[in-house]
Amino acid sequence: MKKTDISLPVDIDAVKGFMDPAEGAALHDAAFGAAERGPVMEIGSYCGKSTVYLGTACKARGALLYALDHHRGSEENQPGWEHHDPDTWDARVDAMDTMPFFRSTIRRAQLEDTVIAIVTKSRLAARHWNIPLSMLFIDGGHALEMAMIDYRGFSPHVMQGGILAIHDIFSDPKDGGQAPYEIYKLALASGMFEELAMVKSLGLLRRILV
Ligand code: SAH
Ligand code: MG
Repeated sequence: MKKTDISLPVDIDAVKGFMDPAEGAALHDAAFGAAERGPVMEIGSYCGKSTVYLGTACKARGALLYALDHHRGSEENQPGWEHHDPDTWDARVDAMDTMPFFRSTIRRAQLEDTVIAIVTKSRLAARHWNIPLSMLFIDGGHALEMAMIDYRGFSPHVMQGGILAIHDIFSDPKDGGQAPYEIYKLALASGMFEELAMVKSLGLLRRILV
């Protein structure tokens, strides 16, 4: 994979989110290598942190990035849970809404002509999805059912030679939930994907050429 000097259009530390800089750089580099061949998709944008890493690479390649999120937060983002941020609570509708933060991030990062937000549940978005992807990044719901929907719904659309990236892979249950690791193992067992690299908890796979 080609290494790039990554210079981001925003102060990434000021963007709310859950993307480690080394993982973000690896995402950026993978997208930079892949996006020449077609659009990239991200499942789970939250306030746009990973979107900036991926989108900056897509923009440099003249490619589009589909950024899918219902913007109502995952289980662990809800009030009372470990990763809740009260700023994201919309009292008018009694629910979380990360969309305003996401839009602000995308505008500040000058990615409005690169990023296409898809604001719905991944199950709905998958129903008629038929666009080949040069890269798919899965970082949505971490319940096994959700991770399976994302994997089953979208990984078949990754082009041969394309990239499947999965976040929050912990082989030891002491370090975190197992759903992302489960779909990572499924992808390998399917014979459709081969391991490329592991950067902290970010697993990178490549769809095998047949
Ligand atoms: N990639 C982000 C973090 C994502 S957090 C970053 O870099 O900071 C996970 C996100 O997945 C949340 O914003 C949540 O709303 C979204 N999500 C969870 N389950 C989902 C589903 N079934 N469909 C769409 N989005 C979902
Ligand atoms: Mg994550």
